[in-house]
Amino acid sequence: MRSQRVVQAPTHAYEIRPVNSKRIVKLDVSMSSQQVVLITGGSSGIGQSIARLLARKDFAVFGASRNPHTAEHAPGVEVLPLDVRSDESVRACVDTLLGRAGRLNVLVNNAGYMLGGAVEEVTIEEARAQFETNFFGTMRTVKAVLPLMRQQRSGTIINISSLAGLVPGPPFCGMYSASKFALEAYTEHLWREVKPFGIHVSLVEPGSIKTKLTSNRQEAAERLGDYDRWRRRALEATRRLEENAPEPTLVADAVLSIIESESPKLRYKVGKDATWLPRLRQILPGSMFEKQLRKTFDLDAME
Ligand code: NAP
Repeated sequence: MRSQRVVQAPTHAYEIRPVNSKRIVKLDVSMSSQQVVLITGGSSGIGQSIARLLARKDFAVFGASRNPHTAEHAPGVEVLPLDVRSDESVRACVDTLLGRAGRLNVLVNNAGYMLGGAVEEVTIEEARAQFETNFFGTMRTVKAVLPLMRQQRSGTIINISSLAGLVPGPPFCGMYSASKFALEAYTEHLWREVKPFGIHVSLVEPGSIKTKLTSNRQEAAERLGDYDRWRRRALEATRRLEENAPEPTLVADAVLSIIESESPKLRYKVGKDATWLPRLRQILPGSMFEKQLRKTFDLDAME
């Protein structure tokens, strides 16, 4: 039998046991008044940064991942298995959390990935898979927690959208952008409908953030050579933009301010690009905005 030890934290207990040489945290929040948070995609990038910050601020944080045994654990965060593409997995994750904590105050829908490829190259199956995670994954998790939040007459739901859900770009990830546009519309309806139950809903719309999103990007299987020249330039420009992108802690700070706000807003833009690009799109004539976008992504450069 493995040895177990219990470490007392200021307001809640962690049971820490070694599994696969990683330290697994088990939160005990039954007797505490801590706010309980579930973060989907808590193993990497933005989700992990949110988990790290909230755990430091003494929230009881459950971070979910498809691979809880290999996921990188933020200190003080309990990792639960979750694949947002599966009804069963979502149900099991929420049931486990409620069994352990008896309540859920905040849900952060962060799990997502980017599908790359020209819209002509993407198959219907690949597009469906993109929506299955980025859009239906959020919808599934929301449906699983709403009965409880309505019963509680309280709760906060934060959906991590994107600048790509406000302005279509960068090029060659049209289905990713479409999934975030869908998430924007869905979330606005949700926000309006659940307000009477004391449930707050917010969208966080980050611009470019330094994470593994691009290196984890999945490419459409079909590759039409005709697009290669523009694809290469767009990707190079995207990488250059990412090199100067802010750290995911910027998004984590925004999420914390939403949770701490008495009356959170529907939309929070994070990063300079997320702030000025949608504005420019509103004020510039369409042709001028498009010219600038093509220039940014090097689409019209001479070979
Ligand atoms: P990341 O480092 O690649 O993290 C993606 C996270 O999503 C991982 O924790 C992954 O967890 C999880 N995930 C993916 N598919 C999942 C599934 N089917 N079920 C459960 N979890 C799944 O990328 P990131 O940049 O932090 O992305 C997080 C969110 O921020 C995404 O929604 C993304 O669209 C959004 N965003 C990112 C940026 C940016 O520039 N980075 C900008 C705007 C918005 P496991 O692999 O452990 O399951």
